Amino acid sequence: MTAHNTHITLKPVSDPYLTDLLDEVSDRYFENTLTASIAWRAPPQTGMRYSVIADSEIEVPPSTFDVKNETIYIHPFLRNSKTPKFVLMYLMYHEGLHNLQTHPKDGNCHDDDFKRKEVLYPKRGKAIAWLKKKGFPVVDW
Ligand SMILES: [Zn+2]
Repeated sequence: MTAHNTHITLKPVSDPYLTDLLDEVSDRYFENTLTASIAWRAPPQTGMRYSVIADSEIEVPPSTFDVKNETIYIHPFLRNSKTPKFVLMYLMYHEGLHNLQTHPKDGNCHDDDFKRKEVLYPKRGKAIAWLKKKGFPVVDW
């Protein structure tokens, strides 16, 4: 094993594949109004797991929206598995709704208005089922 093989990057990784997909989501569902950037999140630190099996660990959601940096982060596990496009697009749709939220961000970000719009994603049920199968904590209602 050489030294560079053991190097682990802890910075988010941008990827034209994600950017193009986000453009598609913005165009298809939001009339091109999304302003967020997107990147693969840095790998979770030691002690953080995406799996709900280890409930003593901090659960890492499959995607997050960083309000301050206006950036959607996608879990790095999803980069390496054969993640269907509709799953990634569902996550982008969900975080895209957060991107467009105008009410104070410290309130309930999954309010009734958000939920009403979120369930409109066509393959939502399939996407959530796929993520759950992989052990991700997912919000559902
Ligand atoms: Zn959310």
